[in-house]
Amino acid sequence: MPSKTGSWSLFFRILGMAFLLATVFTLWPRPGQNFGGWNPSLALLLTPVASPQGETTRIRIGIVSGHMGNDSGAVCYDGNGNVTLTEAEVNQRIASLVQKKLQERGLEVDLLQEFDTRLNGYRAVALVSIHNDSCEYINEQATGFKVAAASNGYDPNRAARLAACLQDRYQRVTGLPFHPNTITRDMREYHAFSEIDPGTVAAIIETGFLYLDRDYLLNHTGQVAEGIVEGVLCFVYNENIETTPVP
Ligand SMILES: [Zn+2]
Repeated sequence: MPSKTGSWSLFFRILGMAFLLATVFTLWPRPGQNFGGWNPSLALLLTPVASPQGETTRIRIGIVSGHMGNDSGAVCYDGNGNVTLTEAEVNQRIASLVQKKLQERGLEVDLLQEFDTRLNGYRAVALVSIHNDSCEYINEQATGFKVAAASNGYDPNRAARLAACLQDRYQRVTGLPFHPNTITRDMREYHAFSEIDPGTVAAIIETGFLYLDRDYLLNHTGQVAEGIVEGVLCFVYNENIETTPVP
């Protein structure tokens, strides 16, 4: 049985380790980035450490391909009532590209279905669900993207930070307008938010409207995916968001 002093010193050791991890996590540099002006001993600390099996621990990200394995989501019809495109198809093209691009940047990525059984208690640095909005003509303002953060995790501030990163980077990369006025309760109370481990930071993005943004979503899918990838990396590596003045 440990003595009282023993438990206290263990307590402080754990506290010290938690502090160190928090510091390291916050200052995680993006691979290939130099440590400009940083303390060299800190740089040393941040060098990826190999596990006893010789593998390095990689950052895990979950990507939900909206509606995959369940339903079609929003549907586009031609003049004769035939289905020409489904939201699920578009989501999957984007989600697969996001997975590939994040893997190329050294991250571990799980591509998940809408009601994937792995979502129960899912643990990762971040989870992003990809959806798109209606294929019906609403009005000329029905263009652009929306982002909502999970507010029911342990740290809503980190979820807000993930959403802010996604919003900033997606807008920069795609040039599509941010469309905050149509963020629905379905987005804010997205089912997966309450299924995943509360320590997993999560957000949902609707990358465009299938009617007015159809051409962009289908012919510039690489840019769409890149916008999400840059948003995830901004969050993971705690990068700066420069607020642009709203016109
Ligand atoms: Zn959807």
